[in-house]
Order: sequence, then C-alpha cells, then structure tokens
Amino acid sequence: MSVPADAWFPRDYAESRREFLAACKELGGEMESHAIDAVGPDGESLTIDLLTLGNRGANDCLVLSSGLHGLEAPLGAAIQLHWMRNALSQSVPPNLRIVLIHALNPYGFAHRRRCEAENIDLNRSFMRRGEEHRGAPPLYEKLDPLLNPESPPGGFDFFTLRAAAILARYGMTKVKQAIAGGQYEFPRGLFYGGKGASETQQLLTPHWKSWLGESRRVIHLDVHTGLGRWGELTLLSAPAMDTAWHRQVGETLGETGYDREKENSVAYQARGDFGLWCSQQAGDIDYAYFCAEFGTYPAVRVLKALRAENQAHHWSDPKAAAFQTAKRSALEAFSPASKSWRQSTVARGVDLCKSAIARLEK
Ligand SMILES: [Zn+2]
Repeated sequence: MSVPADAWFPRDYAESRREFLAACKELGGEMESHAIDAVGPDGESLTIDLLTLGNRGANDCLVLSSGLHGLEAPLGAAIQLHWMRNALSQSVPPNLRIVLIHALNPYGFAHRRRCEAENIDLNRSFMRRGEEHRGAPPLYEKLDPLLNPESPPGGFDFFTLRAAAILARYGMTKVKQAIAGGQYEFPRGLFYGGKGASETQQLLTPHWKSWLGESRRVIHLDVHTGLGRWGELTLLSAPAMDTAWHRQVGETLGETGYDREKENSVAYQARGDFGLWCSQQAGDIDYAYFCAEFGTYPAVRVLKALRAENQAHHWSDPKAAAFQTAKRSALEAFSPASKSWRQSTVARGVDLCKSAIARLEK
C-alpha cells in the first residue's frame, strides 16, 4: 500500500476510533468495547476498544497498547492502524495470539490531556497489591507552586528560566525523579496518581488474564511519546520485571533499560507502573512488558506544555484563546506535526512489532 506513513495519524480520538474499528472489522477476530463514564468534548461516548486475533490456545501472545497517556495516543494508534492495514492482513500464525488495545485513556485522547477524567496519570496509578496511593517527594512539594500555578496559562511567568535555575541547583536526575516519579497529594497537580484504582484499572482488571488466552509467553509493547531525543525509540521497563524471558526479549528488541546513575539517562523510576501491574495480573506466565517511548522535544519544553495544559484545564474558560493555545502546544509536544517525525516513528513502531513476533516465533 502506498499510503505515506504520516497519513496513519488520526486527527482526533473520534477519527482514530472509527479507523481502528473499521480495520478490526476487516481483520475479523473478537472485538470488545468498554465504555467509560466521562464523555468527549462534543458529548460523544468514550470507549477502550480491543481486538484479539488468533487462537485462544496459542502459546505466544503479542500485546500492543496505545494511549495510556491520552495525549500520546496518536502515534500508538497510527502504529496499530498501519500494522493492522498492512502486516496483519495475512493470517496470524497458529501459535500466536495478538491483542490490540486502542486508547487505554480515551478521555485524555479526546480532551488532549495526558491524564484521565480525574486528573490521574495512569502510569502512576496502577498500584500492586500492598502499595498505597499516598505521599509526594519533598522536592515536588517544594516545586508545587511553580509546577501547578492556580491561574490560567499565558503571560510572562518565566517558567523556562525558573526551571533552568532549579535544574542548576538540584541536577536533572533529582528533578526528573521528584517531578515525574508520581505524587498522590496534589489532586490538580501534574503526575498525580490518584487515591485509588482508576476507572481504566477497574475496567481492565476482570479481563486482563482472559485477553491473554492460554498463552505462556507474552511480549507487551505499550506506546508512549515525549521522553528521549527527537524521533528516537527507547524501550523501558521497571527493574522489578527482571526475569530471564524479559531479559532475552529486551536484548532482541534493544532495551535501553533504567540507568539512573547516568545523569542524561531518559528514565526515572515511577510508582504505579502499568507494566508491573500487567505482569502481576498475568500470574505465573512469562511476561515481557516494554514501554516504547518515542522522543519529541527537550524535557523542559515538554514539561512547559504539560504545565500550561494543566493550568488551562483547571483554571481557564474552554472558549478562551489561551485554552486552545495550551491544547495545541500540548498536542504538538507529544505528537509533533513534523512529517519526517511521523514517518520515521510509525515505521520504527511497526518494525518493533515485527521484531517482537519474530522473537516469539524463534
Ligand atoms: Zn507516556
């Protein structure tokens, strides 16, 4: 098919869902839609949609999920669509099961927010048994007035300069860990992990194991954007997932992993990690989860865009020009309009799926 790779990017949630469902129908397989309570900007209903392909009794399974962070959904959805429309149109090998999950956070996708309807950052909220939704790093508390001003965005508040001063004082590693590692005490703040299981978690919990069928080995690729260098792919997973299977898959796919000792490492350790929860739900089977992160703009610009969007969401009139500007900048920070970025990231994402399948078939 001679469609340019950037053409797979959806304009918005509604278009993405339509395209995903149309591709599902053509492929066959089992489709499921799980509605959430919140609605979209035009009152439309919002769902997490899912397609399972292949044999329930297959030994191996590939999971490809998009939009855990709503704003980051366009690339994940584009990779899913491109892959479905091309490579998957042939039959699925008998020993393979494929699970495609579209928009784990449909509210964030539709409203151009990273978090869901309750301001919960879903990748800080999936606590495992025995963990609590409580606490905030002391440095986050200190930075709260800078990160989460209680006013509409706009005006000159010298955020970039102030952020540079903070970075100079504490260093990138400490600041990144304190800001992005997750907090549970500032409900309108960035990287808030909520006070309990999110709606998405409640929807997924009863189904997760059954979606995997009877598979004994799983590779799960969860697509994200906004971390790392422009257009570059970094595969990340929590250190606690370290198993032989995970290591083998990581080596094949080129996992960079956590390297918190390195000042310029893109990673940090977050609480409430989705991948850890997924592997725990899967029980005693071999589960290799990777967060596939595609880089966009430098960290301070991405943070600035997130901050302005969060201010707009909580403190602006949606009809105000500043609200729309903040939404546009936030989308650009996580889904750049650049044709070359879109082409290369979609192609890289599809290649990653193919490599994962090749690893499972080995
Ligand atoms: Zn993300």
